[in-house]
Formats: sequence, C-alpha cells, structure tokens
Amino acid sequence: MSERVFLGLGSNLGDRAAYLSSARDQIAALGAIKRESSIFENPPWQVELPQDDFLNQVLEIETDLDAVQLLLTLQEIERELGRGEHKKGEARTIDIDILLFGQAEIATVGQDYTLFVPHPSMNERAFVLVPLLEIAPKLMHPVLGVSFRELVESVDTTRVVPWYG
Ligand code: ADP
Ligand code: MG
Repeated sequence: MSERVFLGLGSNLGDRAAYLSSARDQIAALGAIKRESSIFENPPWQVELPQDDFLNQVLEIETDLDAVQLLLTLQEIERELGRGEHKKGEARTIDIDILLFGQAEIATVGQDYTLFVPHPSMNERAFVLVPLLEIAPKLMHPVLGVSFRELVESVDTTRVVPWYG
C-alpha cells in the first residue's frame, strides 16, 4: 500500500539549490513526487555557531517503502550528497526529514537510527510549516487533530521568505 508522505528538505552549505535539486531527483526514484513547494530562504536558528542561511522545501511523495526503509534510504541519499558526519544543528549540504507518514504515529529506536513521526519539531518550525501549507493548505496534524493552518499561528513566519535564485 502506498502512503502519502511529506518530506522536509534543507541545505545551508555549498550550492544549496543544486543540493535540493539532486535530492529531489533521487527522491523521485523512491516514489512519485506529487507536489513540491516553492523554495524558501531563512536564517538558521537555534544554532550555536554562525552559519549561512538555509534553503528549505517540502515535498509530498507517494511511496511503497515502509517508514524505516524510507528513513534509511533518505540517509543514504544524504550521505551521497556529501553530508559528512556532523553534529545536530551544524551546517549541512542536505538534510531530509520525514515530517508525516500517512496518518502514522511512529516512535522507533533502531541500532543506528531513531524515527519519530510526525516529526517532533515540525510544529515549531516556520521553515517547515510555511512550505507545507503552501502545498497542503487543509492538512490536519494526524495525532493532534488540529490543522497546520492553526498550528502556524503560533510561530513567527516573518523570516521565511520565498527564494528566487
Ligand atoms: P535535524 O534534522 O534535527 O537537524 P539530524 O538530521 O542530524 O538532525 O538528525 C538525524 C537523526 O534524527 C537521525 O539519527 C534520525 O534517525 C533521527 N530522526 C528521528 N526522527 C526522524 C524523522 N522523522 N526524520 C528524519 N530523521 C529522524
Ligand atoms: Mg534530519
């Protein structure tokens, strides 16, 4: 059975748009890309060292992979696109997060990964919510049962701006 999955992409190192584009190409091999948001630029936040602004984008895909297979495959893509070892919050060529996996609520700890879906930080992240709402304006949070339209009211979206390249 195929699932409707939302992915959050981010890059703030090197040729950011090219990394997003390569990531999209590789993701398209895992499942049809149904919708893709515009690209937005926003300053990094909650980081300790100064670093460049991010480009962010949200994709909706339909995939037959299960959630863990998808995570591991996305991590493979991250590695291929030059994302080296880095600590949480450090600059990266590409970051691909699973935001939503159908209606699923997942909390899995494997040997070298964890998987939490819906993504635990997404409700606080304007750079996720703004592009998500662009492609899925009526979407409901599958666990909280409230609309993302409502959730975005509580975050500051002023620094998430459309990026035209
Ligand atoms: P962040 O994306 O928060 O900046 P990282 O990409 O460095 O941080 O974090 C990667 C870790 O997050 C991996 O160990 C991965 O297993 C875990 N993780 C947990 N839930 C998710 C999810 N929904 N999507 C992607 N990675 C996740
Ligand atoms: Mg990540």
